Amino acid sequence: MEKRVKKEIRRQIRVYPGDKIAVAVSGGKDSMVALKMLSSVFGPRNGIEIHAVTIDEGIEGYRPPSVDIVRRFCSENSIPFHLRSFFELGVDMDRIAPVSGESSPCTYCGVFRRRLMNDEARKIGARYLATGHNLDDTVQSVMMNFVRGDIERLARLGPHEKVQPGLVPRFLPLRTIPEKETLLYALVSGTEFWDGECPYWKEALRNQYRDVVDELEERSPGSRFSILSSYDTLRPMLYSGFPPASLRICECGEPSVGGTCKSCQLLEDARRRIGNL
Ligand code: SF4
Repeated sequence: MEKRVKKEIRRQIRVYPGDKIAVAVSGGKDSMVALKMLSSVFGPRNGIEIHAVTIDEGIEGYRPPSVDIVRRFCSENSIPFHLRSFFELGVDMDRIAPVSGESSPCTYCGVFRRRLMNDEARKIGARYLATGHNLDDTVQSVMMNFVRGDIERLARLGPHEKVQPGLVPRFLPLRTIPEKETLLYALVSGTEFWDGECPYWKEALRNQYRDVVDELEERSPGSRFSILSSYDTLRPMLYSGFPPASLRICECGEPSVGGTCKSCQLLEDARRRIGNL
């Protein structure tokens, strides 16, 4: 697994002494394994700084224990730890979820999390932002966008190849590692992680794709690797058909295709819904 992750790192990024890499860490097994591996591959001896960034979405009983795990790991391994919170935006998931109506709470959560994550990575001066997405997550995203016919978004799935102003490029060191292997690695290596369940996860659209991918894998072992490999083969074509749009900067400071970014639009909507409680 370590060899495969190192190969992915070499394939996806180019780093130089003095560079910084921000790692999005929730405290779950995947992001903790990504943080552990990146901090052992890079670090002071090759002049690359690893920073952990955690987002508190405001979910009582779920996020606080995982934040403690990340904080502890960082302090034991001398990794700078950065914590950002939805409360800075004047919202929290415990108030948004009950009023999210037809939309899944995860729609708001994902967009606000990406905004804070990108903002913090930019403030750190990171050359890249690493996430803990594993093979299962990646294949579910491919399937989800394919079934929805959202080819433009399919073309934009990480790792990002083009550096865009204001957007710290993502890379996914675990994208070829099945979820069960990251779990096994975390257990065998003694990496502490939080395995609590978000109270809103059942409402995530992604779940139906999780079931489809799991069933496919069970019936035809190797399906996940085949889907990823087919996607990687198609990627250059998708990229040339849907090249990354030129981004503008929204008044909140985040990059956006149009004038107002998605996060500001959803924030206004969330605040209105919360206000109507
Ligand atoms: S399951 Fe949904 S609401 Fe819960 S943390 Fe994940 S994205 Fe946010």
